Amino acid sequence: MKIFCRQKIIQLRKKKKKTCLHQRLVIFFQSASAGMKDQEKQKEITEASMNHPFPSNGLLSLVGIGPGSEKHISPQALNAIQGADLIVGYTTYVKLIKHLIQDKEIIRTGMTEEIGRARAAIEEARSGKKVALISSGDAGVYGMAGLALQVLQEIGWKQGESPYVEIIPGISAMNACASLLGAPLGHDFCCISLSDLLTPWPSICKKIQAAAESDFIIAFYNPASGRRQKQIVEAQEIIRKYRDGSTPVALVKSAYRRRQNIVMSDLDHFLDYEIGMLTTVIVGSTNTFLFEGFMITPRGYSHKYTWDGKPHSGQKPAQSLLLDKKGQALREESE
Ligand code: SAH
Repeated sequence: MKIFCRQKIIQLRKKKKKTCLHQRLVIFFQSASAGMKDQEKQKEITEASMNHPFPSNGLLSLVGIGPGSEKHISPQALNAIQGADLIVGYTTYVKLIKHLIQDKEIIRTGMTEEIGRARAAIEEARSGKKVALISSGDAGVYGMAGLALQVLQEIGWKQGESPYVEIIPGISAMNACASLLGAPLGHDFCCISLSDLLTPWPSICKKIQAAAESDFIIAFYNPASGRRQKQIVEAQEIIRKYRDGSTPVALVKSAYRRRQNIVMSDLDHFLDYEIGMLTTVIVGSTNTFLFEGFMITPRGYSHKYTWDGKPHSGQKPAQSLLLDKKGQALREESE
C-alpha cells in the first residue's frame, strides 16, 4: 500500500509516545460518557476536543459546514477550518467557504472523485498537517466522514496512530430545510437518497415502500439531477398508494444559499415544479398539515392534553398513551 511505505511506518513509530496520551483521552471520553453527571465534565470534554490534542501529529477533521451560510457553521467547525493547514473538498463546497480559507492550501476535486479526495486528505494528515476534509451539511449524512473512515480501515489505521481523527457535526439539509418550512419533522421521519449511482434502485424502492407504509415523513436527498429524473416520479407513485394526494410536500432548493427557493405543494402536484441536485424534497406523513404557511407534523400532544395543558380524563402525563378499543387515544365519555 502506497500510504504504508517504510518511511511512513518509521514516522509513525517516532510519534508513538503520543499514543499514551491519546489512549488516556479515549479512556477519559469513554468513562465520561458512561457516567457523566455534571456540566463541568461536559465542558472539559468539549474543550478537550476543540483544542485538538495532536496538532503536530497530523489531524484529520471531518467537518460538516452546514447548508451554506456562515451563520450555520458551528463554532467547532469554524475552529477546525480556521486552524487547518489544508482544506480538502468538493469544488462547490470549497466555494461556499472561500472567504474563510483565502490563505490556505486547498485541494478541490469534482463530483465522483470522493475516494481520491479522502485518500489525499488522509495522506496529507499523516504527513503531519492539520487537514479539514469538508462536506456540506453534516459530514456523516451522505458525506465524506464514512468514506474517510473506510479508507482508514482499508489502510490498516489504528486508534492512537497518525492522524488523530475527529468528526465535527453540521446542520444537515433536512434540518436546514425543515427550519424554512416550519416543523415538518416533528414526528418519526427518515431520509432516503434517490441517487442510484452507488445503491441499486430496487433496494431504494424497497425503503421508499417501507417508509410510506409506516407513515414516516420522508426527506429525499439527491432527488434528481440533469440525467436522473425518473426516480422521484417512481417515488411519488409508491407513496401515493399510502397517502392522500393532498398530503403536503415541500421542495427546498439551496437552503440558506443565494438562490434559495421554497415551494409548498402536495403529493399530487409537486412534480410540476423544478427538482434538481440542490433540492431536498420533504413529503409529509398522513398527519402533516399546513398552518399560515408553515408545514407541521404534530408530535401528538393533543392526544393526551387539552390546549390548557391538562391531561384528557383517563390519560396520565408520564404514562403510555391509553387507547380505546379501536386503537385510538382514549377520551372518556364525560369529556
Ligand atoms: N451531507 C449533506 C448531504 C449531501 S447529499 C447534508 O448533510 O446535508 C446532497 C443532497 O443534500 C442534495 O442533493 C440535496 O438533496 C441536499 N442538500 C444539501 N445542501 C442543501 C441545501 N442547502 N438546500 C437544499 N438541499 C440541500
